[in-house]
Amino acid sequence: MKIQTDGLILKQQNIGEQDKLVTILTRDLGVVRAFVRSGKNLRNSKNSPTSLLCYSKISLYKTKDSFVVDDASVNEMFFSLRFDMERVALAQYFCELAMHICPSEQRADAQLSLILNALFLLTEKKKDPQLVKACVELRLACLAGFMPDLIMCRECGAYETEQMYFVFDKGTIVCSDCFAKKPSPSSVGLDTGLTQALRHIVFSEDKKLFAFNLSDKGLEKLNYITETYICRVLERDFPTLHFYKTIR
Ligand SMILES: [Zn+2]
Repeated sequence: MKIQTDGLILKQQNIGEQDKLVTILTRDLGVVRAFVRSGKNLRNSKNSPTSLLCYSKISLYKTKDSFVVDDASVNEMFFSLRFDMERVALAQYFCELAMHICPSEQRADAQLSLILNALFLLTEKKKDPQLVKACVELRLACLAGFMPDLIMCRECGAYETEQMYFVFDKGTIVCSDCFAKKPSPSSVGLDTGLTQALRHIVFSEDKKLFAFNLSDKGLEKLNYITETYICRVLERDFPTLHFYKTIR
């Protein structure tokens, strides 16, 4: 079986002297692990299109128990990203996140577009990396079926109060009155700006996802919320996230 698709290289590992094993977020098949024969050889045409953070046209064939990259050519290398430690660390976190949250053996158009858009924004340096990060984390969670319920206070139905609370383990919001009656330990306070930012990320159309602003302090808190939430729903930690946080 031969498949033509587009994909972003999320991870590469060396296999023996010559070969590589790559993890790819493909449009048609979600997350795929595939061998690249002689992929370590610099003169091999598959070498650079199968390197980390490369978005490539990829032709795959399936053997009995694995995929093999038959041919590959570069669509986009996000080259300038590689000169910026902070942004490249964040891009690698997006890759690790994608490996664990994107589907396998099914289409992943929305997930791939989301991460590619995020990488373009990091490359262009037009958006604060922290804003891009929060969008990727929460939106990927939504696409994986973990959309938090942000429409109104879970208890009384209030749409918005000056202070609301996000409850991590339930993925819900409650108003300050209801929170006072029944406080939840795993929660964080939200001012109206943060409530609106969370709703924007969850409900906006793809084209407008990254089009909002928040103060630096607001962005810090938003990131605390989105990274805590995604680590909780996936029940795991991400070494690349820790690395990103140590160098920013
Ligand atoms: Zn309430």
